[in-house]
Amino acid sequence: MSTCKGYAAASAGAPLVPFTFQRREPREHDIVIDIKYCGICHSDIHQARNEWSEYQEECIFPMVPGHEIAGVVSAVGNRVTKYSVGDRVGVGCFVDSCRSCVECKAGIEQYCSVGTIWTYNFRDKDGSPTYGGYSDGIVVDENYALRMPANLPLEACAPLLCAGITLYSPLKHWHAGPGKRVAIVGLGGLGHMGVKIAHALGAEVTVLSQSLKKQADGKRMGADHYYATSDPETFAKLVRRFDLVINTVSAAIDWTQYLDLLKVDGTMVVVGLPDKDIPIGAFSLTGGRRSLAGSQIGGVRETQEMLDFCGKHGLGSDVEVVPIQKVNEAYQRVLKSDVRYRFVIDMATLK
Ligand code: NAP
Ligand code: ZN
Ligand code: ZN
Repeated sequence: MSTCKGYAAASAGAPLVPFTFQRREPREHDIVIDIKYCGICHSDIHQARNEWSEYQEECIFPMVPGHEIAGVVSAVGNRVTKYSVGDRVGVGCFVDSCRSCVECKAGIEQYCSVGTIWTYNFRDKDGSPTYGGYSDGIVVDENYALRMPANLPLEACAPLLCAGITLYSPLKHWHAGPGKRVAIVGLGGLGHMGVKIAHALGAEVTVLSQSLKKQADGKRMGADHYYATSDPETFAKLVRRFDLVINTVSAAIDWTQYLDLLKVDGTMVVVGLPDKDIPIGAFSLTGGRRSLAGSQIGGVRETQEMLDFCGKHGLGSDVEVVPIQKVNEAYQRVLKSDVRYRFVIDMATLK
């Protein structure tokens, strides 16, 4: 076992405080990663506050959140072939899966029917709790690690491991590209990567944000159009406009209003995970043969494809790097939608 330093919440909603814990000795296919940066995903906040209690089993405390992990390999197990000491690597939302079900075989381990092993707030195959990336190191099987694009700063790569893949996967699955009109709802961590990736895929991109405060940023990231959802005119103006709407909002909003913005046969993909069920109007679905869908991160293979795509197109995340001592403050700012556009913890500040 090796001792790691990190930050953890001791109980639901408690502030994150310094925490020391053990990681396993590397097994033959494991790599040891010296974590340099970790993004703060809104899911970290939902989980540290136990906001998904209606949908998942009990949270495990103390909880070390963090699943946008970027670092450098510091040691390898004796049968590792994919990585060497010194490689720049990442770990996303899961660290293992059953490896033998239909979904794992198809490379969509995030939907493993036996059970994806999540990076934190979960139990590993041996029953021990998993601890996330708000820490100085992690041990992971080489098959669940990713190679970072060489041309992007590591801190700008970290958010790709969750925010990037969570938008890339549905954009690809629902064929965002030339001739397609895509709306991204919410310009936060997920949303800003959605704008960049959809634009790079050649789609016409519209941001639907609560206000016009971030309009200039959205346009710089590649949005062709930008509307405020606080203006009721927006919904009248954009009715039946989009092929694809991707909803990244972390709170409960009226989905029916957004379904009405879809063309016939359009799809709204929900990626935001509010803590409550949301009612929808059946007529908005039937009246345009519309689809309401959902999507959850991406598999290992697709995550690597996304990282290579972001490298090729120069798509790093817009980050605000913070010392770990400011993590609780950063959470408060995310909750106020005051994030430009992802907080990333500098793990050197743990020392
Ligand atoms: P974030 O940075 O906080 O962004 C969410 C954005 O939603 C905000 O920036 C804001 O955008 C908008 N928003 C927030 N509250 C709102 C409200 N009450 N009404 C309307 N709009 C509101 O969060 P994130 O890290 O991008 O995560 C977003 C959600 O996705 C979270 O629920 C998270 O748990 C979930 N998530 C899902 C997956 C998946 O695999 N499906 C992966 C990662 C995260 P504007 O200021 O532009 O309005
Ligand atoms: Zn996340
Ligand atoms: Zn499986």
